Amino acid sequence: MITYDQALKHITDSFGYANMIVMADGGLLCIPCFKKEQDLIRSCEADLISVIGEDQFEKETYQSSEQWVINRIDANWCDDQLICDHCYDSIVPVYED
Ligand SMILES: [Zn+2]
Repeated sequence: MITYDQALKHITDSFGYANMIVMADGGLLCIPCFKKEQDLIRSCEADLISVIGEDQFEKETYQSSEQWVINRIDANWCDDQLICDHCYDSIVPVYED
């Protein structure tokens, strides 16, 4: 899993191509929710790191109980059916016709 700061850097570095967040429980999060829920995500990752340690945090990819920890950043290239599991807005693909 990755921290909020790592995710933010990845998103910034990708110039808009990294447009969705895959959470530790498998849910998807849109970029606006990612920014809006920054405090919640930061506090959840801090809690989890305090329990399992930083090394294990980096290694793990899935935690069903941790909805607000980030697994990875991904790009939605062309799927116009993807929806944010938090606000239910669509995650607009990079290549939108
Ligand atoms: Zn959302």
